[in-house]
Amino acid sequence: MIELNDATTFFAFDKQLEPALVVPSGETVRIRTKDCFGNQVQSPEDELDSIDWDAINPATGPIFVEGAVAGGTLAVHIDEIELDAQTASCTGADEGVCGARFNEWSTHLCAIEGDKLIWNDKLSIPLNPMIGVIGVAPAGDAVNCGTPGSHGGNMDNTAIGVGATLYFPVAVDGALFGCGDMHAVMGDGEVSVSGAEVAGWATVTFTALPELSVPDPLIETATHFGVIASAESLDAAAERAVNEMVDLLCDRCDMGADEAIMLLSLVADVQVCQMVDPEKTVRFMVPKYVLDSLGFEL
Ligand code: CA
Ligand code: ZN
Repeated sequence: MIELNDATTFFAFDKQLEPALVVPSGETVRIRTKDCFGNQVQSPEDELDSIDWDAINPATGPIFVEGAVAGGTLAVHIDEIELDAQTASCTGADEGVCGARFNEWSTHLCAIEGDKLIWNDKLSIPLNPMIGVIGVAPAGDAVNCGTPGSHGGNMDNTAIGVGATLYFPVAVDGALFGCGDMHAVMGDGEVSVSGAEVAGWATVTFTALPELSVPDPLIETATHFGVIASAESLDAAAERAVNEMVDLLCDRCDMGADEAIMLLSLVADVQVCQMVDPEKTVRFMVPKYVLDSLGFEL
């Protein structure tokens, strides 16, 4: 298996970047990732005086995937996530949902033992390893790694874990994939502005789908298929995600928008990914049994 270390990281998804690695479609790569602080919070004494959204969330890469062409789609299957043994959480002034309460940064370090995060001597939390920042180069200007968008980026989506497949719209030949900002566990919303931030290894398999065109990232899990959309507000993000799923059903299941939205209203869930980044992110998840019954194919 090919490995990519974290010597080559970037702070903005950018079609101008030089690839750190070139792989054929179908390749599996084990990627070393830094945590969202660039591994700078290692002890309780390490202070976070200010976060510059342009200088956090290093992503490892970019990886040029042969066969991924502008206008097509790159599928990325998450095979494995391996986490380092210590996580860092944070909050601070004007960060997260309660930022108005705080004048300074707070951090909380945790150890990982087995499949649990040790919050303190009373509480252990089951892990839900996930990748916070994952995406490809956007069509237009570079987008810093703290901001999510149609290219992916800082989506902070708890469904992006082992076994999930993501489908990214490819804006530039090779796609220029990167990822980082892994979390040992996080709740939907990421209300403090952080998960249990941790460095580690993400193993992913790339498949170029040149014939498929998607406007925003799609996600497929063992049980659900969804659209991930980011916008200025959660309402706007949800409206985008729902409308794009309606479009998919109309295109692929010979269904009018009225039937599609009535059906989705019964079976599909609007779920918050995160509400604390420069753009907010929502996923709209449809059970696969529904799509299978309708003969839906991507
Ligand atoms: Ca994040
Ligand atoms: Zn993070």
